[in-house]
Amino acid sequence: METGTTNQHNLEGRSSTPALHDEIVAETEWVVFRRSPIHGIGGFAKKDIPAGTRILEYVGEKITKEESARRCQANNVYIFCLNDRYDIDGNVPWNPARFLNHSCRPNCETELDEDEERIWILALRDIRAGEELTFNYGYDLSEYKDYPCNCGAPDCVGYIVAEEFFEHVRRQRELERIAAEGGSSTPAQPRGQNPPATSAAQSPR
Ligand SMILES: [Zn+2]
Repeated sequence: METGTTNQHNLEGRSSTPALHDEIVAETEWVVFRRSPIHGIGGFAKKDIPAGTRILEYVGEKITKEESARRCQANNVYIFCLNDRYDIDGNVPWNPARFLNHSCRPNCETELDEDEERIWILALRDIRAGEELTFNYGYDLSEYKDYPCNCGAPDCVGYIVAEEFFEHVRRQRELERIAAEGGSSTPAQPRGQNPPATSAAQSPR
């Protein structure tokens, strides 16, 4: 059962090899990584973490902007901007920070140290032992409906988007709710004539 000291094999394939309940797949000074109620594997505070702590580094492969564009096209969502010339692709087995989940009400944020060209996961507030560590992935609105959010925050927006888009998404959802109820604020539309974009929200998971 035990895989020994190297966790690298366990760290590969977030979805293809789901951890057993409570199985620890990686560990750092402040964080244990195990199954998360939000999604797949998540990071949890091993002990109380004071606000402002650099909890762990977001490491990865340093790549050119050109290579980065190629990988983004291929739906790599682990890429962070490092500077004008380089990005970091965190989708590597030695980067447990890639397991951290998104939340609409995160307790961490990413911090770019431009001088040292390093990216840190920073505690936004005091975090208690056992809490799941989250940050906002900062996604834009492109195809945001493909990225539903399950963060559990009372005011969860429902999709993984940057905070600047919360208002927009909330308004859209309100409009959709009203439309679904056949509300009076929108002109009556015969069923089946909605634009194709809305079908995504109705498709089975
Ligand atoms: Zn959420």
